[in-house]
Amino acid sequence: MVAQVVDGKTFAAKVRAQVSDQVLKLKEENGIIPGLAVVLVGEDPASQVYVRSKGKMTVEVGMNSYEHKLDVDTSEEDLLALIDQLNTNPAVHGILVQLPLPRHLNEDLVINSIDPAKDVDGFHISNVGLLVTGQKSMVPCTPLGCLMMLRDHHGSLSGMDAVVIGRSNIVGKPMAQLLLGDSCTVTIAHSRTKDLPNVVRRADIVIAAVGRPEMVPGDWIKEGATVIDVGINRIERDGKNKLVGDVDYASAADRAGAITPVPGGVGPMTIACLLANTLTACCRAIGLPEPEGLTA
Ligand code: NDP
Repeated sequence: MVAQVVDGKTFAAKVRAQVSDQVLKLKEENGIIPGLAVVLVGEDPASQVYVRSKGKMTVEVGMNSYEHKLDVDTSEEDLLALIDQLNTNPAVHGILVQLPLPRHLNEDLVINSIDPAKDVDGFHISNVGLLVTGQKSMVPCTPLGCLMMLRDHHGSLSGMDAVVIGRSNIVGKPMAQLLLGDSCTVTIAHSRTKDLPNVVRRADIVIAAVGRPEMVPGDWIKEGATVIDVGINRIERDGKNKLVGDVDYASAADRAGAITPVPGGVGPMTIACLLANTLTACCRAIGLPEPEGLTA
């Protein structure tokens, strides 16, 4: 079997176009422009790139983008004061604090100081609890993007066996909750899982979120399974820098029914879902129905 390639770049462009249409409608019918505030502390080069591209895409879909760049030695008190201001600013519907934060700042404290209704990353403890209990929440962007791609490919996921490799708070755990919410039978694997190859072999859906280049070979994949590769790993091959996923793409594509490439799979969906979450937060804030197809 040769797998169908799940093109995240095209899908993400479709999601952004949907967001953009809804933003225009909000502007015309309600005189409201959704606003996303992004807070960056310090000068981590990768974080600077992410923040720049988030700002650019926010503006492209017609939303207001507010960037707050703070010195690396900003005190916790000053950062919390800024978040407090953003929490009460009615023009700001979504707040994202770019992680990782410098070591002297308590990440949990900072994230949990964001108004949960504006927590477009979905990391606030209240949103985690709402997701686990199957209630309306803000859902972390990367797992939301994976869920959208799976629903688009399969329609219903009900009854499918899903294996999520990785149990981080930002990808693995929320991904597993979302799949459970869609009635999959879910296994969460991690570094202590026994006989990982055979655990993965029974999956109709494999989500790899580990951070180890090409660790999942094709012979772990059941014929016809859907493989979502969240991993982004920079490696050097043949003297060139290359991005690869957690799955060995070539051998997995020979067995899978569908597979996301790296790059061009899950990655582009993450920012698209951040914009979708900001729109959702705005609609909820002003009491309008949530945009269809853009939430969990
Ligand atoms: P973490 O490092 O937080 O978590 C990695 C998980 O993988 C842990 O639960 C760990 O298990 C598990 N793990 C490590 N080694 C093994 C192994 N040999 N076998 C089975 N499980 C293992 O990573 P993240 O969840 O933050 O990210 C995972 C990957 O996804 C990274 O490559 C990251 O860059 C990428 N990513 C991509 C995004 C995108 O937009 N596409 C967004 C976010 C992340 P244990 O808990 O036991 O240590």
